Amino acid sequence: MLRAGVDLGGTKIQTVIMAPDNTILGSHRCLTPTDGGPADVAEAIAGAVRASIEDGLVDPLDVTALGLGSPGQIDAAAGTVSNAGNLPGWAAITYPLADDLFSRLGLPVKLGNDVQVAVRAEAELGAGRGYGSFLGIFAGTGIGGSVVMADELWLGRGAAGEIGHMVVALDGELCPCGRRGCTEAYAGRAAMETTARQWVAAGRSTALFDIMAAKGRTRLASGVWAKALSRGDEMAIELIDRAVVALGAAAGSAVNLLDVEAVIIGGGLGIRLGEEFVERIRIAAMDHIVMPAQPPDFRLAELGDLGGAMGAALLATP
Ligand SMILES: [Zn+2]
Repeated sequence: MLRAGVDLGGTKIQTVIMAPDNTILGSHRCLTPTDGGPADVAEAIAGAVRASIEDGLVDPLDVTALGLGSPGQIDAAAGTVSNAGNLPGWAAITYPLADDLFSRLGLPVKLGNDVQVAVRAEAELGAGRGYGSFLGIFAGTGIGGSVVMADELWLGRGAAGEIGHMVVALDGELCPCGRRGCTEAYAGRAAMETTARQWVAAGRSTALFDIMAAKGRTRLASGVWAKALSRGDEMAIELIDRAVVALGAAAGSAVNLLDVEAVIIGGGLGIRLGEEFVERIRIAAMDHIVMPAQPPDFRLAELGDLGGAMGAALLATP
């Protein structure tokens, strides 16, 4: 009785095959299609699931269920994903992803919010173990968040935890959500790339896009940012500094509101920039925390790039 887990992101698709004791038997990672539409994304997901089954050398018939964490709005009961703006052709539509994947793979599919499944994995198997309450902040293409209170994921009416759209600057930078001054406008990779392109168009220089091209990428992926920082690229340093300030303000404000025991930082950018990034966010957050005598722990997500897919596999647990 094995479970497949899929972390569907704006940049990559990560899949795992998980054993009953939650160890990982196989995995696969590929880029998310950047054009086409939802059916092309579903085809890429199915291919990645098959590749992880091959990677794990497991019998495909032993895989009995599939869980998937997706961006956008999820209707778990209907098996649909709506308004997933970071995915091609998915900005303003509702797509029956669970039915599509069932027809391609023959597996029952459970859908969940990408960040909520990643936080569940950290809570059960990673850095969140031992904390009854924590805030998860996932810095990737966008900024996702989720809140665990009294050992339970706090979902609100389904949309809780959107720390990426906590306002850190009134009338600030334009956010991909269309509003101004959100955390994501400063710390989301897509927004940072938009700003970098604007600065280049205005005549500033940076190695970011050369590094991107040398890596054969078309977007400023987390590894591109990490490499530019290690080279001392001024624009990369300035944009990451802004991201740290914004994430610190958002985390500090959320801690003031919720008084959680820990803040766990993950996501592609968080994982790639690592402990130093977490420590910088902690220092930035402390400026805003009104009860500094009892600060929360700031921890790097432990499950790395596999956390989202592992959480998705947990979702598929009968
Ligand atoms: Zn926003």
